[in-house]
Amino acid sequence: MVGLDERLEAVYVEVTRRNPGEAEFHQAVREVLESLSPVLAKRPELVECKMIERICEPERQIIFRVPWQDDKGELHVNRGFRVQFNSALGPYKGGLRFHPSVYLGIIKFLGFEQIFKNALTGLPIGGGKGGADFDPKGKSDNEIMRFCQSFMLELHRYVGEYQDVPAGDIGVGGREIGYLFGMYKRITSQYESGVITGKGLNWGGSLVRTEATGYGAVFFAREMLAVRGQEIEGKTCVVSGSGNVAIYTIQKLSQLGARVVACSDSDGVIYDESGIDLPLLKQLKEVERVRIEEYSERKKDSRYVPHGNIWEIPCNLAFPSATQNELNGRDAAALVKNGCVAVVEGANMPATPDAIRTFTEANVAFGLGKAANAGGVATSALEMQQNASRDSWSFDYTEQRLDHIMRGIHRNVYETSVEYGSPGNYVVGANITGFLRVADAMLALGVI
Ligand code: GLU
Repeated sequence: MVGLDERLEAVYVEVTRRNPGEAEFHQAVREVLESLSPVLAKRPELVECKMIERICEPERQIIFRVPWQDDKGELHVNRGFRVQFNSALGPYKGGLRFHPSVYLGIIKFLGFEQIFKNALTGLPIGGGKGGADFDPKGKSDNEIMRFCQSFMLELHRYVGEYQDVPAGDIGVGGREIGYLFGMYKRITSQYESGVITGKGLNWGGSLVRTEATGYGAVFFAREMLAVRGQEIEGKTCVVSGSGNVAIYTIQKLSQLGARVVACSDSDGVIYDESGIDLPLLKQLKEVERVRIEEYSERKKDSRYVPHGNIWEIPCNLAFPSATQNELNGRDAAALVKNGCVAVVEGANMPATPDAIRTFTEANVAFGLGKAANAGGVATSALEMQQNASRDSWSFDYTEQRLDHIMRGIHRNVYETSVEYGSPGNYVVGANITGFLRVADAMLALGVI
C-alpha cells in the first residue's frame, strides 16, 4: 500500500472501523484517498468542511428481503440492496448486480466508484448501485422473471426518474431490465420510462446503450494510445470476460483493425489465434446463454484452456472486462514482460492495487475503470435525455455523442494528471477530476 498523509490515513482508518468486513469498499476508498493529497494541499476548505468524510458515507442504504418461488414450487430467500451514495450532481444512477458474491461491501464499492465515474461524464447524474446475492446461472426464464418481480415489489418505493435510476450490471441485462420495468409500471400505473435504463429499443431504450461500455472503453484506449503516438490498428488484444462489456469491446476493437485473440469466463479461457469470431460468441452468450467452452466445440481451430490465465497470453493491449480484482500483481508482471503497452479497465476495479503499481512503474498506460468504462453510464444518461424529451436518436448520432463524451473524459483526466504533476497517470487524473466535481457541488449545496 502507498502511504497516506496523516489526515487521509485518519479518514481511511475511520472508514474501515465504521464499515467492518467490507474489503472491496475499503479498497475503492483507499484508491481514491491515495490520489487526493495534492488536492487537500490546494483546497484546505475541503478539509475543514469534512468533505472526504461526507463523500465516504452513503446518503442512504436500503437492504431488503427478496422471497421467490422456483419452478418446482420451492421457496428461496435472497437479499436485495440499493445504496444511494451521492445525489449532489443529479438523481442516483448506477446498475444492479445479480451475483452470488453480492453483499453490502460489493455494492458500496461499486456505488462509491459510480459517484466519480458519473461525475466524469459531465452529465447530471449522482451515484448509486444495487443488486442481490441471487445466482442467475441455470435459472429458467420464468424463475428470472419471478425474482425480478419480487425484487421490484420492494425496490419501487425508492426509485424514480427524479430520485434513483437503476440499470444493468453483472447478471442484469435487457431481459431482466424488461421484467423490472414491467413490474414497476404495473405497481405505479405510470409509464415512467426514465426510471430505469438499458430498456429495449421499442419500449424507451436507446440505440448504442447495449454496445456503449465496450465501445467507450475502446474509444478511451484510442485516446490513450494517441498520447503515445500509437493507434489501435494492428494491435493484438486480450479481453477478459465474455459478457456485455467484453463482447462490444471485441466488436469495436475488430472494427478499428485490432485482433482479439482471447476472451474468458469464470471457468476458463478461449484462445483463437485468427481472432475471436464475434457472431459465434454473441450466439453463445446472448442467445444460448452457455459457457464459452462451447466456442471451441464449434470452432475447431480455437483452444479452450480450463482455469487458464488470460493475462499470460502475449498481447499489446489488455482489457480486463470481467469483474473486480481479476488481475493481480503477478498477472500484471506477466503482461509487462510480454510487452503489453496499455491496460484499459472495462470492468469495475478489475486490477488490484499491486497490479496498478506494477503498470505505473513499468510505464504501461493504465486506463482506470472510472474513466475508461464510463461510456455505459454516459449512454444511460443519453437514454434518460431521450426519455425526457420523448425522442429517440439514430445509432450514428448516439455513437458520436458517446465518442465525444469519451474524448472529453480523456482530455479532462489527462489535463488534471498534468496539472497535479503526474502526466499520463489516469488514476490520479480520474480520481481528482471526479472528486472535485462532486465536492464543488456539495460545497454549493451546503451541509446536507
Ligand atoms: N453498471 C454500469 C456501470 O458500472 C452502468 C450503470 C448505468 O448505466 O447506470 O457503470
